[in-house]
Amino acid sequence: MTHHQPLSYLQPQPRGPWDDYLEQIDRVTPHLGSLARWVETLKRPKRILIVDVPIERDDGSIAHFEGYRVQHNTSRGPGKGGVRFHQDVTLSEVMALSAWMTVKNAAVNVPYGGAKGGIRVDPKQLSQAELQRMTRRYTSEINIIIGPTKDIPAPDVNTNEQVMAWMMDTYSMNEGSTATGVVTGKPISLGGSLGRQEATGRGVFVLGCEAAVRTGLDPARLRVAIQGLGNVGGVAARLFAQSGAIVVAIQDHEATICNPAGIDVPALLAHARRHGSVAGFTGAESLANRAEFWEVDCDLLIPAALEQQITEVNAGKIRASIVLEGANGPTTPAADDILAARGILVVPDVIANAGGVTVSYFEWVQDFSSFFWSEDEINQRLTRILTDAFGAVWQLAAERKVSLRTAAFIVGCTRVLQAREMRGLYP
Ligand code: GLU
Repeated sequence: MTHHQPLSYLQPQPRGPWDDYLEQIDRVTPHLGSLARWVETLKRPKRILIVDVPIERDDGSIAHFEGYRVQHNTSRGPGKGGVRFHQDVTLSEVMALSAWMTVKNAAVNVPYGGAKGGIRVDPKQLSQAELQRMTRRYTSEINIIIGPTKDIPAPDVNTNEQVMAWMMDTYSMNEGSTATGVVTGKPISLGGSLGRQEATGRGVFVLGCEAAVRTGLDPARLRVAIQGLGNVGGVAARLFAQSGAIVVAIQDHEATICNPAGIDVPALLAHARRHGSVAGFTGAESLANRAEFWEVDCDLLIPAALEQQITEVNAGKIRASIVLEGANGPTTPAADDILAARGILVVPDVIANAGGVTVSYFEWVQDFSSFFWSEDEINQRLTRILTDAFGAVWQLAAERKVSLRTAAFIVGCTRVLQAREMRGLYP
């Protein structure tokens, strides 16, 4: 986290999320027909910007952080995707996240390519003032490649509407005019959209119910386990609990709690807001061994935190009938095979968590037209886009006898490569 640490992107890397993504592309390639000629496009990010982000700490010392913005593909429109602040951010991770945005945006048919950014920092170690200085310096550094028609950042892990407001302001100051459409996930007072903050969790909930119905489960009686109680897992937990489902286990970065009779979700969310974690919550049993989370008896298992959580180590022990990917890249290809062999349905990230970017698209459209929609209208359009996309992927999976992930990749990659082919190469 300080300048004493070597640059992570020069260190030898273990197998990372980018390797998982490449394997997913290899698995979809035989299904792309003549478009397979263009598939190499998907294995090479269009543009990678690595920036140094120096800030003055409150104590007067200078700290440097690694910043990234990767534009994986812009064949269908401007780059689009979040910015993550996390101590484990790597180039491989940001590359994979940007590529999953390309596939996601195409799979739900919003008119964007894919991009992602990140800073390798533990934001909990920074004061609010330091966080603001870091965000602003990062934005200034990537200013040369972002913009409302070029590449539009948004929140991701550890970034929120305040961070988006600082990014929007910094970009606008550099441009000399207020450009609300340069980021999404902004506060409502700055051109943000109603429903954006909870959109990813809402989408996870909508598709969880949809997947349940299609597999013969009653959505109102689901038993749900969730990893992550942030903006995705927390909202999903609330919506599932409100619908009559019971939340039987939650894992966050500090603790794992479990209650087969059902956790009181509003009480848990209040506890987590006060203490920063689910640790110490009295309405559930605490599991000392984090690995046991994956063995909890439930219907719906929702990884809603980081990548590479469901691996060949724990995939054989999962007792859920559906894995619903709120996170990006939580399941490795090896784990995908194990889950498929065990008859466990995986609803892939590129559909399951696409609610966030879908309402980001609504926000961007509203900013451009300076005309704002009601929350009902937004939620209705969101539900329709996601259920239609899920229905199409479900049907294709049945027709081609492939997993939902491969089907979603067929839909997404076909749209991207058709655009690529029609545009042709220049010069
Ligand atoms: N970070 C979110 C994602 O992974 C949202 C991106 C966006 O709204 O641009 O999909």
